[in-house]
Amino acid sequence: GQCRAFCPTGAISIHTNTDKVFKALADPDIRVVAQIAPAVRVAVGDHYGLQKGRSVMGKIVNALHRMGFDEVYDTTFSADLTIMEESAEFLNRIEKGEKLPLLTSCCPAWVKFITDQYKDYIPNISTCRSPQGMLSAVIKEYFRDPEHAQGKKTVMVSIMPCTAKKAEAVRPNSYTHGEKDTDIVITTTELLRMIDNFGLDFAGLEPEACDMPFGFGSGGGVIFGVTGGVTEAVLRRLTPDHSKETMREISECGVRGDEGIKEFSVPYKGMEIKICVASGLANARIVMDRVKNGEAEYHLIEVMACRRGCIMGGGQPTRSGDRTKAARAKGLYNADNTTIIKKSDENPMVLELYQGLLKGKEHELLHNEFY
Ligand code: SF4
Repeated sequence: GQCRAFCPTGAISIHTNTDKVFKALADPDIRVVAQIAPAVRVAVGDHYGLQKGRSVMGKIVNALHRMGFDEVYDTTFSADLTIMEESAEFLNRIEKGEKLPLLTSCCPAWVKFITDQYKDYIPNISTCRSPQGMLSAVIKEYFRDPEHAQGKKTVMVSIMPCTAKKAEAVRPNSYTHGEKDTDIVITTTELLRMIDNFGLDFAGLEPEACDMPFGFGSGGGVIFGVTGGVTEAVLRRLTPDHSKETMREISECGVRGDEGIKEFSVPYKGMEIKICVASGLANARIVMDRVKNGEAEYHLIEVMACRRGCIMGGGQPTRSGDRTKAARAKGLYNADNTTIIKKSDENPMVLELYQGLLKGKEHELLHNEFY
């Protein structure tokens, strides 16, 4: 139906993104595929009276299947791809000593902030597409194979904590072979509305697993939703070891916590890697001004435009107090704790993808240029 929320007489009818999703779901010639970002899973439960911040990923997957989604995948999978690519890029720049500090590229609002206001640093932005961009590009490529497509057109729906992801999806570099990678982006709030419109008893749904082959991410991928998560996942990737002690040491190096600006360094092959993790654009400005004025020097800067990261994104249910914020971060760290595989480079599905579909197409599907 059409959303008439803004005009009770119906004189102005607004087609929302959820209308588009319902329309695709009703079309038998369309395969509707969803991807769900890490932060979404910890911001849905309390709407249905479940524990604040608890991951309800399994219930979301079930809800989407019931609504008619053909396949449901986890953006955590492509967060792992991002870590693989971004770590390689980081090491390459360190080796050559160029385009440092490396600026993370998974938050579109931060990327826009740099491309608009700190143009000199555009070459420093990682060329990695965001996890949303990578997964959509990979899935669309997978279904370009007629054997996988089975005569159906694929519509990619991305469920994000973020309104800026809508803008990211229509950027010129979110297209592959002239085709849009992500067709529709809906926010967590819009997802809640869809579940309610569909009349599902969300709290009573049994948890279900995502589909294969893009339905599994490592613990490093799932913490992308909280500030510091990308950096922590990169640090895990850079260490050859995966023991509990090493994972704990990394988590305690200064990368966690909800301060707006965190600075720390970690030893790596005889050098000290200097890192800054910031959240909130006001804090990003402080950091970038320091770097610009030569008052600070880093090898890596991770910024999330939303304070505390995507768990507090503009597409998440609002009215979240301090308890909710803390519970969402804890929910993601708990999801990491209960995931057997902690490191992106140990995700077997990711490794298989590099041997198969991605071979020779890494640059085309996983990177973009901002300049
Ligand atoms: Fe979107 Fe905010 Fe996350 Fe950036 S930090 S990707 S703006 S939700």
